[in-house]
Amino acid sequence: MSEINTFEAAQSGRPTGPLVRGYEVIIGFETHAQLSTASKIFSRASTAFGAEPNTQACAVDLALPGTLPVMNKGAVERAIKLGLALGSTIAPRSVFARKNYFYPDLPKGYQISQFEIPVVQGGSVSFFVGDEPKTVRLVRAHLEEDAGKSLHEDFVGQSGIDLNRAGTPLLEIVTEPDMRSTAEAVAYARELHKIVTWIGICDGNMQEGSFRCDANVSVRRPGDKLGTRREIKNLNSFKFMQQAIDYEIRWQIEEIEDGRAIQQATVLFDPDSGETRAMRTKEDAADYRYFPDPDLPPLAIAADWIERVRADMPELPRAMAERYVREHGLSDYDAAQLTQSPALAAYFQGAVAAGANAKLASNWITGEIARRLNQQDMAITEAPVTAPQLARLVARIGDGTISNSAARQVFDALWTGEGQDVDAVIEAKGLKQMSDSGALEKIIDQVLATNEKNIAEYRAGKDKAFNALVGQVMKASQGKANPAQVNALLKAKLG
Ligand code: ADP
Ligand code: MG
Repeated sequence: MSEINTFEAAQSGRPTGPLVRGYEVIIGFETHAQLSTASKIFSRASTAFGAEPNTQACAVDLALPGTLPVMNKGAVERAIKLGLALGSTIAPRSVFARKNYFYPDLPKGYQISQFEIPVVQGGSVSFFVGDEPKTVRLVRAHLEEDAGKSLHEDFVGQSGIDLNRAGTPLLEIVTEPDMRSTAEAVAYARELHKIVTWIGICDGNMQEGSFRCDANVSVRRPGDKLGTRREIKNLNSFKFMQQAIDYEIRWQIEEIEDGRAIQQATVLFDPDSGETRAMRTKEDAADYRYFPDPDLPPLAIAADWIERVRADMPELPRAMAERYVREHGLSDYDAAQLTQSPALAAYFQGAVAAGANAKLASNWITGEIARRLNQQDMAITEAPVTAPQLARLVARIGDGTISNSAARQVFDALWTGEGQDVDAVIEAKGLKQMSDSGALEKIIDQVLATNEKNIAEYRAGKDKAFNALVGQVMKASQGKANPAQVNALLKAKLG
């Protein structure tokens, strides 16, 4: 966003983010993470995605008379995991409440949620926005059931209702209004997405709606009290999130500049037009007439349950990254890159376990491999070069068998399937570095005999001339000479 003026922000000293046309941006997130349980939050119906409409909603999900909801232990366990991962308090006793509203996809007329006492309280998410560390405080995360879904596409002049999603377990994760730019908001969402998938509580599939974000956005003049927010609902791609928030910020500023007050509202982002549009004016909590659900007892979580869940937690990405820095001497940046997903970290660890130098392996993974995966839109688990193959390649660079440029050729052969075995590819392509100093000396002598000008310039103190000579030797050796050895021999010969 070209309108962002960081200089202005630095001058005023007050706002903690970049100003947009003189306004401070305030963003808070509510994220619905669908919990990866096989059955629903209060029933035994399946949560599998993509079934025929209305085949997976049972009487409990619809709250038919005579049914009673029963809490799914797996959903609670996942909420505990999130709380542990984010340093939150796990409430020893939390309460389910009915949130009453009418909508076609909610025929029972209320959603079971948590209101006054949520299961997860406080905590924070820390991440980097570029090089800048940022911490966003959480207000809470509460358990709730999802509603059904209206289907508009497949009907001419009618809408259908699919209740399969009714009763699917959700964790709604609510932040303080701590974000100050679109970049921070998107970075927060990415970090949260990474954490919920890392700890295995949510599959993170955004197309299928397993991770949907509502962005609350307001703007104000620095020093003013908080502006009125509008809530952009159901952002299910990071790209749309960025576009929607950018648009919303510009729109709100435009309104204020034109002398209109912002009305609190719920809006939807339309990717086709790139605009946000009001759906409805925002309800207040009072409109929902929350009350404790009489069918569900309070949720009690004993300390020993929390400890059992804690014992089962994987190492978290930040702890893992810090360990990589400590154990392998990687930079913070590289360590953060390698801990983007458990699969990527496993690949790196696989290479190290197979004997690779950690720093070299890291360079290949965050460089050449990341570039190719990105280019071919592939996941690390699909990489044609395995971690042991990378380890072997790195070893052959380390022991001087091949140069870096030869290694790139070997890597390409492995990646494209031209070869499987590193040593066989080196052999077949004749990429072995010259280890015979006699042969190398012969090449050097030839190069020196035909490059008097460069020699004279080198003796006159020009470093460039020396590099040119190294280049000539490397070329004459067809890239097989060891550059360090060439350097040393040349220096010796030139005196
Ligand atoms: P509700 O539950 O009615 O949506 P909350 O007060 O719980 O309202 O806030 C919801 C979200 O909106 C939170 O993430 C909060 O941080 C954020 N928020 C609250 N006030 C503002 C504001 N003025 N600007 C931007 N975000 C805000
Ligand atoms: Mg809300």
